[in-house]
Amino acid sequence: MFIDAHCHLIYKESSQNIPEHLAAINKLMQENNLDYIVSNTSTPDYFHLIEHEKKYPKILSAIAINRNLAKDRSKHQEYLKLLRTNVEKNNPEAIGEVGLDYYAEITPNYAPKAQQYILEQEILLAKEFDLPLVIHSLYSDADLLAILRKHHAEEMRVHIHGTQITQTFMQDFIDLGCYFSLSYYHHFDEPEMVFWIDSIPFDRLLFETDSPYAYSVQNEKGKSSPEDVISNYHLYCEKTGKKLDSVVKQVSNNFKCLYRL
Ligand SMILES: [Zn+2]
Repeated sequence: MFIDAHCHLIYKESSQNIPEHLAAINKLMQENNLDYIVSNTSTPDYFHLIEHEKKYPKILSAIAINRNLAKDRSKHQEYLKLLRTNVEKNNPEAIGEVGLDYYAEITPNYAPKAQQYILEQEILLAKEFDLPLVIHSLYSDADLLAILRKHHAEEMRVHIHGTQITQTFMQDFIDLGCYFSLSYYHHFDEPEMVFWIDSIPFDRLLFETDSPYAYSVQNEKGKSSPEDVISNYHLYCEKTGKKLDSVVKQVSNNFKCLYRL
């Protein structure tokens, strides 16, 4: 049974008909042998929609405030309040995706201090409710590591999604006990990917699609889907020589540890 450790089911195009969309995803999971998927909703306007995910025990919910929304400081308290209300009301299984993205340096969304503030508030919330954190990091490893250390992330459950941690910092994140998911948008032949495949400990390995936003072997950006994760398992086996059975079993165990299932 396969697991998509990180995708997005609730987004602009799906938000109008979430019950139908989730029913279709549930059917697709059964048809494709998908055991669990984690749906990340990071737009406060859609937080309330995660109540529909509760109908499906194999669809886990993560909610958080998207780092791209951090720039508008006048909204911080309103967003954080909405996040807390929905965590209390709808019991998501994780806080995510949270994180830092400094690639936005060239876009109007670049506001590192504001991103860091929101991230720290979300870490505190995850600790308070004893929930795993799903983290995005791009060009921000040093700051992310400092913040995680400050909040004793080694005592938390942390999933670095779509791993782009650089060689300089990878061992530090491993030492903090993080889990890491591989996504096809790294492309399995790139040198970075070879590094991640080699360095992610087998007992911390997960796979994800980041669908629909990321592309996959089968689908272009914006059109990928949770079942595309199966190709990532196969590609990993091809690159490592590991047997599919053992990878499926280990990833399942890892995921169950992360989510205490
Ligand atoms: Zn994502």
